[in-house]
Amino acid sequence: MRLQMLNHVDPNILQITNAFMYTEYPHKSFWSTSVGDKDYRSALLELLTNEPTTPLLLYVHILYCTELCWFCTCHIGEITKDQNKRKNYLGMLYSEIRLLREFFNQHSLTPNFTEIHLGGGSPTDLTIPDFDCLVENLGSIVNMENLSEFSIEIDPRHTTREMLRYYHDKGINRISMGIQDFDPKVQGAINRVQPIKLVEDLMSNETDDLFSNGVNFDIICGLPHQTKETIRRTAAECVRLSPDRICLNYLHLAPHFTKHQSLMSDGKHGRPDRLPDYYERKELFAVALETLTQGGYVRTGYDHFAKPTDSVARAMADGKMHWNALGVTAGRYDSILSVGVHSYSTLGNYYFQNFYDVQKYQEALEQGLFPIFRGHKQNQDDLMRRDVIQTLRSFFSIGFEGIDAKYGINFENYFKEELASLDSYIKDELVEIKNRAIIVTEKGHQFTNTICYVFDAYKKSRPRF
Ligand code: SF4
Repeated sequence: MRLQMLNHVDPNILQITNAFMYTEYPHKSFWSTSVGDKDYRSALLELLTNEPTTPLLLYVHILYCTELCWFCTCHIGEITKDQNKRKNYLGMLYSEIRLLREFFNQHSLTPNFTEIHLGGGSPTDLTIPDFDCLVENLGSIVNMENLSEFSIEIDPRHTTREMLRYYHDKGINRISMGIQDFDPKVQGAINRVQPIKLVEDLMSNETDDLFSNGVNFDIICGLPHQTKETIRRTAAECVRLSPDRICLNYLHLAPHFTKHQSLMSDGKHGRPDRLPDYYERKELFAVALETLTQGGYVRTGYDHFAKPTDSVARAMADGKMHWNALGVTAGRYDSILSVGVHSYSTLGNYYFQNFYDVQKYQEALEQGLFPIFRGHKQNQDDLMRRDVIQTLRSFFSIGFEGIDAKYGINFENYFKEELASLDSYIKDELVEIKNRAIIVTEKGHQFTNTICYVFDAYKKSRPRF
């Protein structure tokens, strides 16, 4: 399939990656490094003073993994089995939590944390005493009784049924398992060998009872050796194992930043060379999509699926689903406060990101400063475009009236150039504009990210990966 609209997108980008992830808008590369501790304190105070009851998610980034998966683009810090390193890192994390606690006390603030998510890295590599201590520290700024969701990323290679019971006892009510692909050859090519039996063992009836907010599987599309047949089998196994949600992400390929991705090309340096290209990735996704929807899942946004009974599927039907850096959510919170190396917060109209470097993170904390590396205050144009992009990506359509009313503009006038740029998409029957709305057709769903790209005001100066 070589569609006309693809001529409007830089072919280098099409070839290298699913570059337009839009987990934030604008992209982090446009955030300012002159933003720091003072700005963070003032944004936090502004948000919690103006909206004291606003629901917040606390994201906690746990560094380190014990094995390196070659496709991975997460910020893991280091591959290590040394538990002392994990303990040291947790000590820094507790300093950041302590700073937050002092800040809240100083301003008599009681933030309304309603959700916690533990990500990484590998949170399931922590020892039980360290995990106990982590939860105790989180309890110093969060009323754990108030949580509607407490979730964790699970590495099935390092998790047992007994540990699942333990996580449940600590208050965790949703788990997300890193699956990637069930095919042994694909697993070998990405250095993530994880026999299906491991996952079968964890997906017992008891697991359903333990995690009332559900179980998620993460699958990646575009890995080496994936074919239409292998991804059909992987998707069918997902249907059989029956998680509540499935995230079907495209491989994010950035070998300049994550050099280990080049190991997927028989150890040669440079771009991995056995990967499905842009068009093959679309075909793989289409096969998985067909298998999952025939298996009873509904598509909840660009790259997510859920059982119709799941809270996200219900939120999608009600128009309340929200998409953010953690995937699609049932829309129970808007702001995310994050702790840990490299993690970033969305506080009202502000973005802030912590240092990537552990030493710089530690040094800032030792000086009593929040370890902010960069940030961005969104102007009205950013907010509108983010709204348009996230709505298209989540619901495959956007009505102009809602944006007119929310931002006091006339959509057709404000986005005149963008609407004109959609002509080629319309000719290819990927998009329709009618009744003052952009509607992405079923055929166009696969290209929603490139359709969103039309609304990206920063695209001309966006770095190439
Ligand atoms: S995929 Fe998960 S377990 Fe593998 S290296 Fe990345 S963060 Fe670690």
